[in-house]
Amino acid sequence: ASANIGVVGLAVMGSNLARNLASREGNTVAVLNRSRAKTDELVAAHPEAQFVPAFSYEEFAASLQKPRTAIIMVKAGGPTDAVIDELVKVFEPGDIIVDGGNAYFPDTIRREKAVRSTGINYVGAGISGGEEGALLGPSIMPGGSDESWVTLGPILRSIAAVAEGEPCVTHIGHNGAGHFVKMVHNGIEYADMQLIAEAYDLIRRGTGKTPAQIADIFAEWNRGELESYLIEITAEVLRQVDATTSLPLVDVILDQAGAKGTGAWTVQTALALGTPVSGIAEATFARSLSSHPEQRAVAASLPGPAEAFQVPEDQVDAFIEDVRLALYASKIVAYSQGFDEIRAGAAEYDWTIDLGAVSKIWRGGCIIRAQFLNRIADAYAESPELPVLMTAPYFAEALARGQAAWRRVVVAAAQAGIPAPAFSSSLSYYDGLRADRLPAALVQGQRDFFGAHTYKRVDKEGTFHTLWSGDRSEVEAEDTH
Ligand code: NDP
Repeated sequence: ASANIGVVGLAVMGSNLARNLASREGNTVAVLNRSRAKTDELVAAHPEAQFVPAFSYEEFAASLQKPRTAIIMVKAGGPTDAVIDELVKVFEPGDIIVDGGNAYFPDTIRREKAVRSTGINYVGAGISGGEEGALLGPSIMPGGSDESWVTLGPILRSIAAVAEGEPCVTHIGHNGAGHFVKMVHNGIEYADMQLIAEAYDLIRRGTGKTPAQIADIFAEWNRGELESYLIEITAEVLRQVDATTSLPLVDVILDQAGAKGTGAWTVQTALALGTPVSGIAEATFARSLSSHPEQRAVAASLPGPAEAFQVPEDQVDAFIEDVRLALYASKIVAYSQGFDEIRAGAAEYDWTIDLGAVSKIWRGGCIIRAQFLNRIADAYAESPELPVLMTAPYFAEALARGQAAWRRVVVAAAQAGIPAPAFSSSLSYYDGLRADRLPAALVQGQRDFFGAHTYKRVDKEGTFHTLWSGDRSEVEAEDTH
C-alpha cells in the first residue's frame, strides 16, 4: 500500500481534485474510474503526479494505507450509491469514504447511517468552486464523524483554497451537515446572482447605458464593499462582445436561466423548516419564470406603465448609487436568510455548526467568495448566538444607511414596470421582521373563523376561540395552533 488518499471517479471534477491532491507535499493518490480510459488518460497526461492507478476496487483498496481514505467524485444519485456499495465490500472498519459530489443532504444522512453500521466512516463533503476550484483549491464543507476528521482534516486542508492565510475548510458537523451547508451556499449564490442581474437591468433600462458602460460601473463597485467574485465576473460578462454579431454578448444570449436543482432544494428545505428564505426563493422562481417562453409570449400583450422609464440626466449618478446601496442591503438580507436556514437546519438535525467558521471558508475557492464574509465572521465572533445576522451592528448600520435608497429603487422598479423580485422581497422581509405588529393577527382571526384554529391574546395567557357561528362570544380553547 503506497497511497494515503484515493479518488474514485475521474471526470472533470475527480481528475482535477486528484491532481490537486497529488501536487501537495506528502500525498500519493490512488485513482479509479468505472471505465478504464479516463484513468489511463489521467495517468498518461500527468506523469509528474505519480498516481497509483487501480483498475478494480480490490486493487484500489490494496493500494491504500490504513485507515483507507477515498473521495468519490461521480455523478450524484444512483452512481454514488453504486460506488459506495463497491467500496464497502473492500474497505474495513475505521476506513473513510468521502462523497465529494453534489449530494442532497437527506441522501447523505441515509448513506452515513448505512455505512456507519459497517464500522466504516462516511463523510459527505460539499465541494465548491467548479473545475478550477477542484484543481487549484476549492472551498470544502465536510460533514461526518469527529473520528474521520482526524485523518481527513490535514488532507483536505492541504488542497483547499486559502483565504487570508486560512484554508477554506472546516468540519461543519455530523452526517449530512456538510452537504446541507453546501446546499445553502448554492441558494445564496442564486440570490446574489439574481440581485446583481436586477441591478444591471434597472441601470440599463433606467439610464440607457450600454453593457460595456455598466461593466465599468460593476468594476468600480468591485473596489468597494460589494467586492466579490460574482461582481467581478459580471463586469467581464457585460464587457464581452459577440464575435458573430459584434453585439454585446449579453444581448445575444437567450434570456432563459437554467438551474441544476440546488436552489430548489434550498427553498424546499427552508419551507419544511419554516425559515423564510424569500430572496433565494424569488431568485429560484425568477429562473423558472424566465424559462417559460410560451407563457411569456402570451403575457407580452399585458399592459405596463403608460410612461417610459427614464432617469433624468442630472439624476443618473444618484440613481446608480441608489441601486448600489439597494443591492448591498438586499445582499445582506439574502445572506442573513441563508445563515438563518443553516441555524434552523442545525437545530432540526442536531448539528453543532459554527456559523462564523462557515462564513470564513466561503471567503476563498467558492462562487460566493467575497470580502463581505469577513464581516459575517466578525458578527458571529462577537455574538455566536446572534438570532438575526442583519441585526449585527455592522449590517444594521449598512441597512440604516441604505434603506432610503433601497425604497426609492423598489418604488422606481414598480413604477417603471421592471421586475425586481429579489430587491423587493428582501425589503419586505426587512420591513416584516422589524415590524412592531404584523397583520398575522388578522390571519389568525381568519383561521379561527373558518377552521376554529384558535388564537392567543396579547393581554392574557391561554388559547381562545370566538364562536363565530354562534353568539360570537369568546371561549377558552385547547391549543391547536
Ligand atoms: P459527472 O457528474 O459528469 O460524472 C461522471 C463520472 O461519474 C465519471 O467518472 C463516470 O464514470 C462516473 N459514473 C457515472 N455513473 C457511474 C456508476 N454507475 N458507477 C461508477 N461510476 C459512475 O462528473 P463531474 O466531474 O462533472 O462531477 C462529479 C461530481 O462533482 C458530481 O456529483 C457533481 O455534481 C459534483 N460537482 C461538480 C461540479 C462541477 O463544476 N462540474 C462542481 C461541484 C461539484 P465513467 O467515466 O465510467 O462514465
